[in-house]
Amino acid sequence: MTYTPFDLSGKVALVTGGNGGIGLGFADAVARAGADVCIWGRNEDKNDSAKKKLQAHGTKITAFTCDVSHRAEVDDVFAQTIEVYGRVDACFANAGVIGAVKSGLSIDESEWRRVLGVNLDGAFFTLRAAAQHMVERAEDGDPGGRLIGTASLAAKAGAARMEHYAATKGALISMLRAMAVEFARFDVTANSVLPGWIETEMTEDFFGWDKFSENVLPRIPTRRWGQPEDFGGIAVYLMSDASSYHTGDSIIIDGGYWIF
Ligand code: NDP
Repeated sequence: MTYTPFDLSGKVALVTGGNGGIGLGFADAVARAGADVCIWGRNEDKNDSAKKKLQAHGTKITAFTCDVSHRAEVDDVFAQTIEVYGRVDACFANAGVIGAVKSGLSIDESEWRRVLGVNLDGAFFTLRAAAQHMVERAEDGDPGGRLIGTASLAAKAGAARMEHYAATKGALISMLRAMAVEFARFDVTANSVLPGWIETEMTEDFFGWDKFSENVLPRIPTRRWGQPEDFGGIAVYLMSDASSYHTGDSIIIDGGYWIF
């Protein structure tokens, strides 16, 4: 007999920041496992090209322009997502910015607010909209849902010169743990994923700097940077029926960097 819980046919995923990098890694895998997918991002060209790539898998794919740091925009675009799909089964709050890498002595207020606005406020607005929908659905007799946030090892390690970024990722993990407890009664799970060093637009400047690569790569036991595709398995698992008893966790995917 076949083991079927990883089949995502009939389920709908929303992936913020799904037009590139890790978010596209999530979106691509869940679409290939049968899910319909809605991606959100700010850049229309990136949205269009990610949408085309995802459509090759044969499920229903939509891309919306949305800046997650604007609460009203999130609520509006979430409502449009529900209009198109009727439901959201898994919400990946993945959109994020790294912020200016500079001493904590000189991170100014506007940069602090910008990074918190996207990574923390944006994740909260997105996850709250999804949770409201999932709870409403449960109260109408259709329980279940998955809340997933892309945090970072920066939440655990001392991420010098990234105080703003680190603060948002630590807070995201805590927020999802609170949601895990509050929404468990509706069969909604909430977990965070903590990537290590992954090759995306966000890390281009780091990885292009020889001294950084020479110092960091030898500290990754798998001896390579992570790729967006390395996040497909966790996305499918967390969205699937196989993970229905797995909640409140923070899952590190880093090629062994943290334990080495
Ligand atoms: P990318 O820069 O490739 O992706 C970031 C995504 O977020 C893009 O799709 C971008 O779309 C979107 N985005 C940024 N700001 C906003 C906004 N205000 N509203 C909506 N969407 C937005 O980087 P990654 O794939 O690496 O990053 C994805 C997540 O992973 C982030 O949360 C990041 O912090 C986290 N992470 C990454 C690590 C790495 O090594 N790469 C390590 C640890 C965590 P658009 O440009 O269209 O706005």
